[in-house]
Amino acid sequence: MSHKAHCLILPYPIQGHINPMLQFSKRLQSKNVKITIAATKFFLKTMQELSTPVSIEAISDGYDDGGIYQAESFAAYITRFKEVGSDTLSQLIETLTTRGCAVNCIVYDPFLPWAVEVAKKYGLASAAFFTQSCAVDNIYYHVHKGVLKLPPTEVDEEISIPGLVTIESSDVPSFVSTPESARALEMLVNQFSNLEKIDWVLINSFYELEKEVTDWMSKVYPIKTIGPTIPSIYLDKRLPDDKEYGLSIFKPMTNECLNWLNHQPISSVVYVSFGSLTKLEPEQMEELAWGLKNSNKNFLWVVRSTEESKLPKNFLEELKLASENKGLVVSWCPQLQVLEHKSIGCFLTHCGWNSTLEAISLGVPMVAMPQWSDQPTNAKLVEDVWGMGVRANQDEKGLVRREVIEECIKIVMEEEKGKMIKENAKRWKELARNAVDEGGSSDRNIEEFVSKLLTIS
Ligand code: UDP
Repeated sequence: MSHKAHCLILPYPIQGHINPMLQFSKRLQSKNVKITIAATKFFLKTMQELSTPVSIEAISDGYDDGGIYQAESFAAYITRFKEVGSDTLSQLIETLTTRGCAVNCIVYDPFLPWAVEVAKKYGLASAAFFTQSCAVDNIYYHVHKGVLKLPPTEVDEEISIPGLVTIESSDVPSFVSTPESARALEMLVNQFSNLEKIDWVLINSFYELEKEVTDWMSKVYPIKTIGPTIPSIYLDKRLPDDKEYGLSIFKPMTNECLNWLNHQPISSVVYVSFGSLTKLEPEQMEELAWGLKNSNKNFLWVVRSTEESKLPKNFLEELKLASENKGLVVSWCPQLQVLEHKSIGCFLTHCGWNSTLEAISLGVPMVAMPQWSDQPTNAKLVEDVWGMGVRANQDEKGLVRREVIEECIKIVMEEEKGKMIKENAKRWKELARNAVDEGGSSDRNIEEFVSKLLTIS
């Protein structure tokens, strides 16, 4: 059957942004929209796994050999990406037209707001795809409007933002102090710089999870929540072939993880991961290691190979020698398969937005240990709004101590409060599935997006 419309998808080239945009693409494709993903040459080179049903074409960020790692600074990277990215994206649009499959709409990551200019140049529709929560987007929107000044001036200052519960300074996104993070904040705030020129604002969240804030933001922008964007097999199962993201920059140690988990009792394991980017201070790593060991629970801990040298001396050796097989440390795991596994009792997470949505979708209680970026805000929501976990608080040095980690794990896995958290987790899991299932809030939004696409194509 010939397709109804053609969307060109432009993600910022990191795992946590590509995954949700790729998943959204699969949903569109299932509704007969043609998809082409524009990925940077460097990102494509670094892929360990690349098996997706959508077509992928290369563009350039100007750093084909090393991506952002090759750039002199973050600022330089963003500037060059805009220049070279605009050119190579334009060339791609022209090539696709020559091949007889002209593009109708660019779905772009608002970390790359220049895509709107490219869309306008060719008379295409455009949709911004936000990969962070609606709450976090709303905070950046208020920074953009000058209503909220970051960093907050008082340590315990209470911050009121329309559509959000009152938050404290420790709950706002972390981009504040150093010159490099000032550039990151500028980029995050710039996401809103040209939204009045576009047709849709898509957000990887679901209405039931963030009702008030979505309602509030919908007064300002044409918002559509379309998530959670995790593979269909874990939610509504309507896309039978959609079993995994299909793109990965790290190689998962799948057999090791699943074999080990298969030997653990039901709901007994603490799964620990800080995502694809976070680097822990060596002292924090040490506190975490002893916190896990002292919790007396079995744990599966993802320590990326670049982080491994920070583990306490002999930690891995002792773990291997321990007779009761207490813990397994791996460099990367198939996180969705792990979270779904019946042996998992809780997820100690940095609260990256994808990990948070995955835990919600699979109903896994969390111990929230946010580090930077949007993670503190996500942790606040997990604990206080969704009641799906507890937050492990930092001391005045910014470190979470081993006793706190041990205590939080105990609360979630053993105490009365943990039972409530598990109940809430079950409820959110169901609501997440309903949202993407036929007739659910996200499904309806995707349907509307597709039918409007048809009218413009
Ligand atoms: N992930 C994974 N295996 C791991 C750790 C993480 O597949 O061992 C995936 C996880 O499922 C999620 C992504 O990596 O989809 C991390 O995204 P998130 O937004 O949580 O954090 P980020 O990496 O952007 O900090």
